[in-house]
Amino acid sequence: MTVSNGRQFLSIPGPSTIPDAVLAAMQRPAVDIYSGEMIGITESCLKDLGVIFRTSGRVYIYAANGHGGWEAALSNVLSRGEQVLVLESGRFAVGWGEMARMLGLEVEVLPGGWQRAVDPTALEERLKRDTARTIKAVLVAQIDTASGVVNDIPAIRKALDAARHPALLMVDAVASLACMPFEMDAWGVDVAMSGSQKGLMTPPGLAFVAAGARARKVHETAGLRTLYWDWTFREGEVHYQKYCGTPPEHLLFGLRKALDLLLAEGLDAAIRRHELLAEATRTAVAKWAEGEAIAFNIQRPSERANSVTCVLTPGVDPDPLLAYCRDKCGVVLGVGLGALDGKGFRIAHMGHINAPMLLGTLGAVEIALKTVRIPHGSGGVQAAVDYLAREVAA
Ligand SMILES: *Cc1c(COP(=O)(O)O)cnc(C)c1O
Repeated sequence: MTVSNGRQFLSIPGPSTIPDAVLAAMQRPAVDIYSGEMIGITESCLKDLGVIFRTSGRVYIYAANGHGGWEAALSNVLSRGEQVLVLESGRFAVGWGEMARMLGLEVEVLPGGWQRAVDPTALEERLKRDTARTIKAVLVAQIDTASGVVNDIPAIRKALDAARHPALLMVDAVASLACMPFEMDAWGVDVAMSGSQKGLMTPPGLAFVAAGARARKVHETAGLRTLYWDWTFREGEVHYQKYCGTPPEHLLFGLRKALDLLLAEGLDAAIRRHELLAEATRTAVAKWAEGEAIAFNIQRPSERANSVTCVLTPGVDPDPLLAYCRDKCGVVLGVGLGALDGKGFRIAHMGHINAPMLLGTLGAVEIALKTVRIPHGSGGVQAAVDYLAREVAA
């Protein structure tokens, strides 16, 4: 017997749930790529993405996934043989660094860990030792989706400033944009990148890169530029240059609708919604953790991300729980990635998600904890309900 028929909950950290309104906006014929409508959609999306990145800098839209956005960011501001410093706190900044290495850059990883945020003091010390200023860019993920950590970008900026180091600060905001505060200009971020399929509620296939004034200056002499990613080419007058070819029309129809939904809710309200649902998740996990076979991956509560929670199952194989949730309840959880492979699971709470969706997911996890007999404290879902009842006034 299963109770899985009905709408499946895709509770993985990307792609996230696509709103029906976004799907509906894509259900239409292609349009003339030279039409005023298409040009208007491009212009309005670029403007609204600037609002969401909180920057007056330039934004570029690529037909690419997040990995493409990584390459776009690197190739526009760096030259072969230059050094970048990657701040480890899980999988994603390190993956960005692997891409940098294949592009011909020298990559140094500032060792961190999978259970904590980047240490700004360690960064400051490393940068102070770089007296020759060979490090040209610092790469960091605001939220690392594999570890569930959130890094303190303003503190990282302060570390660069305290070391009086001119390296560009480049931030991966794929799993954080529209989920947690991100202030590109106010925080002194030189290059930020993101993707369509997480907080922005659009199918995978669009990458966004935002560039501040310093980054655009460095861009002028960057040696890794190629036509497809090149900012200067994309700033050209002709509309097809914005995409270096045919616009990904249907993804843009979807994005336009998703941005409308987000701006109608209000960016601050969306961020607060993520905070509430994340804290509800953590309240449930904290209860389950009383049984000692469930634990948070990220040790410090203040370093836990508001878009994804990584849960460890010390001494217990998480696969039966994942399979039960999927096959019996219709809830797909994220598997442990990298160092957490086989050691736990991830609950996404990003993008188009509300209380019943989250409570449904938590409820399925709690049923699974009982049926696959993972020792756990009881009442996790009840604790999440009580938390939301306290925080969300009538
Ligand atoms: C999902 C993700 C990426 C990669 O995006 P893809 O679209 O899968 O290439 C990069 N960084 C972070 C933090 C992510 O969560």
